[in-house]
Amino acid sequence: MSVLPIASPVIDHAVAADEADADGHEPCVLLKLGEIVLKGRNRQQFERLLHDNIRRAVRDLGIEVRVWQREGVIVLRVAGSQDGVAQDRATAADAVAERMKYVMGLARVCRAVRVAKDPDAAIDAAVAMAAGCEGSFAVRARRRDKRFPLTSADLAVAIGSKIQQRYGYPVNLSSPDTTVFVEVDQREVFVFTEGWPGQGGLPVGMSGRALVLMSGGIDSPVAAYRMMRRGLRCSFLHFSGMPLTGPESVYKAYGLARQLDRFQSDSRLFVVPFGNAQRALASSGAGRLQIVAQRRLMLKTGAAMARRLRAAALVTGDSLGQVSSQTLTNITALDDAVSLPILRPLIGLDKSEIISEARRIATLAISELPDQDCCSLLTPRQVETRARIEDLRKIEARLDADDLAEELAAAAQEHSPGRP
Ligand code: ATP
Ligand code: MG
Repeated sequence: MSVLPIASPVIDHAVAADEADADGHEPCVLLKLGEIVLKGRNRQQFERLLHDNIRRAVRDLGIEVRVWQREGVIVLRVAGSQDGVAQDRATAADAVAERMKYVMGLARVCRAVRVAKDPDAAIDAAVAMAAGCEGSFAVRARRRDKRFPLTSADLAVAIGSKIQQRYGYPVNLSSPDTTVFVEVDQREVFVFTEGWPGQGGLPVGMSGRALVLMSGGIDSPVAAYRMMRRGLRCSFLHFSGMPLTGPESVYKAYGLARQLDRFQSDSRLFVVPFGNAQRALASSGAGRLQIVAQRRLMLKTGAAMARRLRAAALVTGDSLGQVSSQTLTNITALDDAVSLPILRPLIGLDKSEIISEARRIATLAISELPDQDCCSLLTPRQVETRARIEDLRKIEARLDADDLAEELAAAAQEHSPGRP
């Protein structure tokens, strides 16, 4: 079994007196990997990326976190605060665990304690961990080192009877309310409960980079979340109706990017004032094609921006048939605007499914705030549901749409929304 000290060289990983709490229980966080474990040959590269993302996610906490890759699990040890202020390590481990719930590529996040490799220490830690639990319980023990003096079954029984004696909880092995896990490793024992589900998916960055066209609406943040979960590091591009509208939609885009930043850190938001370009399209006679022509110009601007960011795809929140600009014919006309692939992770979802995901990832409340979306400006009385590509190209030729897209991309203002 390999134990790789990653964050800083850790030579002796037995529990040293100065590293454990006074009772010999060192609070730490255990992370179970998701799909990454399936990735065979490239696995080390993926693990390194995941470790980087873990460090990014805790960077601003002021807690020194050591990352250990072990067989199928990552152990995070907290070394106390960097500024020298004594900090309760359990609280620090709680804060780190909380951040891990949002890191892509993790299947489970468990608060654990690490104790000396000794049956009594393991039993004490397990009994302490069961304090305050409710309902029935079970103990599952596992030995990676078979030289441990107790078998897994004996260890589970010893712990189970102590917990029962101490707290009187009923044992239920088939569907317990709480399960206490004990893992005997080569040099130490980890004790933990179920913990929380992680986000699953793949580490952000593993699939490359993309640019998300993000309105202030419900769909595009959910689309961004889905693509981040498939390993794309996402930047965000928002078009405001300014100077024809107020800045409200920009505030929403900023708030949404902040929420989404929890899943990847270091997000970049670009804002393009689009009102004058919309007016130019209207003046060149877009008529019923106004909406689709606007969307094509957004995509062209996105492609110009993607080139600068070295992003390999655009992402939109389109869902087939949801609004008139999203008929199959119109989507085909949108694809024609750029050569870059346009990823549409919501294409087959119902609005109600998108809304419940937006609620779960905490973007819904922001999306529901009132604003004047740029698409609601200059809306024709009837929107063309079967846009013809030749007609769109003619409108675009009248205003040199490709040059205009370059200008719009160059005029974008960048923001770094950070986490909430
Ligand atoms: P959303 O809820 O994401 O706004 P929607 O159902 O309102 O989507 P549309 O307004 O037709 O649908 O927009 C479809 C997609 O086009 C959006 O999901 C988004 O990717 C992109 N888009 C629309 N408006 C903007 C904007 N103002 N800025 C950036 N992207 C936009
Ligand atoms: Mg919209």
